Amino acid sequence: MTNLVHVPCPHCHRTNRVPADRLVEKPSCGACKQPLTAGAVAELDDGNLAAFTGRSDLPVLVDFWASWCGPCQAMAPEFQTAAGTWGGRVAFAKVNTEQAQQSAARFGIRSIPTLILFRGGRERARHSGAMSASQLSAWLQDQIR
Ligand code: ZN
Repeated sequence: MTNLVHVPCPHCHRTNRVPADRLVEKPSCGACKQPLTAGAVAELDDGNLAAFTGRSDLPVLVDFWASWCGPCQAMAPEFQTAAGTWGGRVAFAKVNTEQAQQSAARFGIRSIPTLILFRGGRERARHSGAMSASQLSAWLQDQIR
């Protein structure tokens, strides 16, 4: 029996069901045809953060950031690189805390960037402070095992 994994599309947010063994083959979204797992970073807000993290069978790593935050800007390309490395195993998303103030308050975001790893919609780990792509991957490796 094929194990189907629920993966929300990072572009249109439609939930796709993908056979587990196809996740690393860079499947496309059934609705918008864009890459489903290949290094995309979903942009989430107060309206869809809970639904996106709750519907994903993959762990979801969310970067809480703000446009005025220098370390956040510095980390953005590193986060993007890590998203490519982890494509098909971990979904990557970011939340602009200037816009998503309810989410920032709900998760008690006091310093940015803050990364929160969600599994089944629940917070499982968090890290505050910018990381390089390799530091991020090492941290993630520790959380995912
Ligand atoms: Zn899509």
